[in-house]
Amino acid sequence: MASMTFDGIGKTFSDGTVAVANVSFTVADGEFVVLVGPSGCGKSTLLRMAAGLELLNSGRLLMDDHDVSNTEAQDRDIAMVFQNYALYPHMTVYENMAFGLQQRKMPKDKIEKLVRDAAEMLDLTKYLHRKPGALSGGQRQRVAMGRAIVRHPMAFLMDEPLSNLDAKLRVQMRAELKLLNQRLGVTTLYVTHDQVEAMTMGDRVAVLKPVGNAGESNLQQIDTPQRLYDRPANIFVAGFIGSPAMNFVRAELRAEGAGLRAAIAGTGISFPVPASAVLSAYAGRQVVVGIRPEMFLVCPEAEALFNEPVPVAEALGADTYVFFDIASPPVDVNDAEEPEEFKRKGTNRLVARIPPAATPAPNQRLPLTVDLQQLHWFDPLTGTAIR
Ligand code: ATP
Repeated sequence: MASMTFDGIGKTFSDGTVAVANVSFTVADGEFVVLVGPSGCGKSTLLRMAAGLELLNSGRLLMDDHDVSNTEAQDRDIAMVFQNYALYPHMTVYENMAFGLQQRKMPKDKIEKLVRDAAEMLDLTKYLHRKPGALSGGQRQRVAMGRAIVRHPMAFLMDEPLSNLDAKLRVQMRAELKLLNQRLGVTTLYVTHDQVEAMTMGDRVAVLKPVGNAGESNLQQIDTPQRLYDRPANIFVAGFIGSPAMNFVRAELRAEGAGLRAAIAGTGISFPVPASAVLSAYAGRQVVVGIRPEMFLVCPEAEALFNEPVPVAEALGADTYVFFDIASPPVDVNDAEEPEEFKRKGTNRLVARIPPAATPAPNQRLPLTVDLQQLHWFDPLTGTAIR
C-alpha cells in the first residue's frame, strides 16, 4: 500500500486542449478518494496519468516518496478497473482473473490460491468456470474487481466502474465496493460524474471543474463529503454537491441600524442578515445567497419570505419537491460574473423540499420561509464563499 501525491500536475494535449492544470492533492495510504465533476473536467485524464497511460506536461506524481512521473504503466504496481470492465470474452472467470499473474510468470499453485481467495471474497467461486457472456452485469463488475485484487497492487484506480449497471444494482455494488475497500484497505482513486456516488463512497471527495482561465486549477475543493455539503468553497462546489441542487439568488446587502438586510434583486423581498463580521464588509455590495432546498420551511402566510404559485410539484413519497419562480436574474454556477448582471431582468426558478402533507394544488401559492442561520453567502465576482 502507498500514498499517492499529485504535485502541481498539468496536462495539455497536442491540439492545445488544456485538460488538467495545477492540480495538487494527496491520497493517503489506504484512503478512498473520489474525483467528481461534470463532463470534460479532466477526471479521466488525471486517472490515466496516475496509471501511466498518459504523460504529464508539468508537476510530479509520487507513490509514497518515489517520483513515478516517468515510470512505465506496467512498472507502477497499480491496478485499474475500467467502465467497460475490459474482460476477455473467450476466457473463463478464472482465466480472466489469473491472466495478469500468468503474464508475470507466477507459479501455478500461487496463482490458484490468489484467484480462489479473491473469488471467495467477491462471492464468485461458483462462477469461476463461466465466461463473461454468461454473467450478470454485477457479476462481471466483480470479476473486473477480482482481476485487480489478485495483483495485490499498491493502489486501485477506478474509472466509472458502476456506470454500466442499472440503478438498483449500482446502489448495491456501491455499498459492496465500499465494504471491500474497507476490508482490503487499499489506496483508491475513483472517478465518477455522479455526486451521490462520490458522497456515499469517498473518504474524501475532490470536486473538479473544466479548466477556465489561465492560472486556475480544475481542483475546486477536496474535503470530506459532510464538509463539502456544509462548507462549500465556492458557488461551483455548492451547486454540484447536493440533490436537488442548491438555489442561488442575487441580493444586495443594505445597512439597517447596527445590522444588515439582504434585498433580493428584482423583487421586494428582503430579510435580516445574521450578524457576521465578514458579511459586514459587504454592506452596500452585491452578494449571491445559497439556499439548499431542504432549508425551506412551510410557514403561515404572515411569516412568508416567498409566497409564489407552485406550477410543478414532484411527489417522491418521503418528500415533495416544489418548484416556483421569482422575478430575479438567475445565477450561472459555472462563471463569476459582472455586477451588471444584477440589473438584468430575468426569472430564477427555485426548488424547495417540503413534507408531502404540505404539497400544494397546482398553481396554488405556498408560503415559505428559510432558516436564515443556514444560508450560504458568496462573492458574485469571484464565486468564493464569504465566511
Ligand atoms: P467525462 O466525464 O466526459 O469522461 P472527464 O472529466 O473524464 O470527462 P477528460 O476525459 O479527462 O474529462 O477530458 C478533459 C478535457 O480534455 C476535455 O476537454 C477533453 O475533450 C480533452 N481531451 C481528452 N483527451 C484528449 C485528447 N486525446 N486530445 C485532446 N483533448 C483531449
